[in-house]
Amino acid sequence: MPHSSPQRTDSELGEFRVKGEIPVPILIVWMTAAAVPALSFFAFRAHLRSDPQTTYVLLTFAVLLSANALIHFVANSDTLLRRGFILVITALFCYLAVFAIENGAGVMWLFAYPPIIFYISDSRVGIIACGGGWLGLALLYSPIGAAIIDTPYSGSFRLSMMIVLGFEMVSCYLLDQSRRRSKLGLIQLASRFEYAAKHDALTGLANRREGHNRIDSEYQRYLRNGRGFSVMLMDIDLFKSVNDNYGHQAGDRMIKLVAESLQTECRRVDMIARWGGEEFLVLLPETDTAEAVQIANRVRQSIATQAIEFDGQAITATISVGVASIHGNETIDRVLQRADEALYQAKTQGRNQVCDSDGRHTAA
Ligand code: GH3
Ligand code: MG
Ligand code: MG
Repeated sequence: MPHSSPQRTDSELGEFRVKGEIPVPILIVWMTAAAVPALSFFAFRAHLRSDPQTTYVLLTFAVLLSANALIHFVANSDTLLRRGFILVITALFCYLAVFAIENGAGVMWLFAYPPIIFYISDSRVGIIACGGGWLGLALLYSPIGAAIIDTPYSGSFRLSMMIVLGFEMVSCYLLDQSRRRSKLGLIQLASRFEYAAKHDALTGLANRREGHNRIDSEYQRYLRNGRGFSVMLMDIDLFKSVNDNYGHQAGDRMIKLVAESLQTECRRVDMIARWGGEEFLVLLPETDTAEAVQIANRVRQSIATQAIEFDGQAITATISVGVASIHGNETIDRVLQRADEALYQAKTQGRNQVCDSDGRHTAA
C-alpha cells in the first residue's frame, strides 16, 4: 500500500514555527525586559507620592517577573516560563484593577492582557483567562464589588471599560483564530510539499533523492558502529514490451503492482525507493548478502506469481535483482555500482533471477 501523506498532531503544531513568527519564550523574555523598568518607574512614582505599599508591591512584581525569566535560563523549560509569566501578569493585572493604581489609570493596562495571553498560550487558556478576567472585573464594578472594595471609577467609566474590554477580548480571539488557521494551512502546505519532494507520485515510495538520503544516513551509521547493510537493485524484465503491447496505463499498473509486492515482502526497517522508470532500490539495514539474496528471491517469486488484469487479460512480469553488501571502507557509489553490475549479470544470464556482487548466491 502506498504511504499516505504525513499528518501532524496538535501538539506538534504548537511546536512548529512559521518563518518570521516570534518564538513565545523569546517574546516573554523581551516583555519581561520591558515590564521590569516600567514597574520600577511606577514604583518610583509611588515612592515620590509617599505610598510605600504600592512601591513594594510593584517592585515585588518586577522581582517575580525577573526571577521567572532567570529560572527559565537555569531550568530551560519553556512551559515553566510561560506558566510562570501568565501567573505573575494575571496577579499584576488583578492588583492594578482592584487597587486602582495611579488614581485608577492603572486599570487601562488590562487592555494589554488579551493579545498577550492569546499569543503565548493556546485558545482554551486564552478564553478561560479573558472570560475569567472580564467576569472578575464585572464583579469588582458591580454593586457587590463596590460594597467590598472602594474604587474611584465612575459609573460611565465602569460601563465603557466593560464594553470596550469585552470588545477587545472578542477581537483578539477572532484574530488569534484566524492566525492559527493560517498557520495550520501553511504547515499543511509545507508538509504536502515536503512529502511530494521525497516521494514518487505513482507508487508513493521514496523517490531517488530520498533513497540517496536514506542510504547516506545508513552509511554514516555503518561508519560509526560497523553494522553493515545490503542494497537490492531491481528492474522489471522486458518492461518495454508491456508498454508496447498493452499501453502505458497497463505499464503504470504493473509498476504499482511491483511496488506493492515490495512493500508486502520487505520488512518495515527496509527502505524501498523507486530508483528510475521501472527500477527499484531496497536498502536492507543490518542484513548480509545471504539474507539479502533470500529476501530478493522471495520478492522475485511473489512478483512472478501475480498478474494485473487489463482489458480482460492477465499480464504478468518478472524482475531481475542485483544484490550488494557494504565492505570495509568502500564508498556508497561503489556499493551501488556493484549492485548495478550484479543486476546486469542477472539480465545477461537470462532475467528473472537474483545475482549478488560476489557471484556466490545466484538463484533462478
Ligand atoms: P530489460 O529486461 O532489459 O530491463 O528490458 P526493458 O524493456 O525493461 O528495458 P528498457 O530500459 O529498454 O525499458 C524500460 C521502459 O520503461 C522504457 C520506458 O518507456 C518505460 N517506463 C519508464 N518509466 C515508466 C513509467 O513511469 N510508466 C510506464 N508505463 N513506463 C515507463
Ligand atoms: Mg531499466
Ligand atoms: Mg527493465
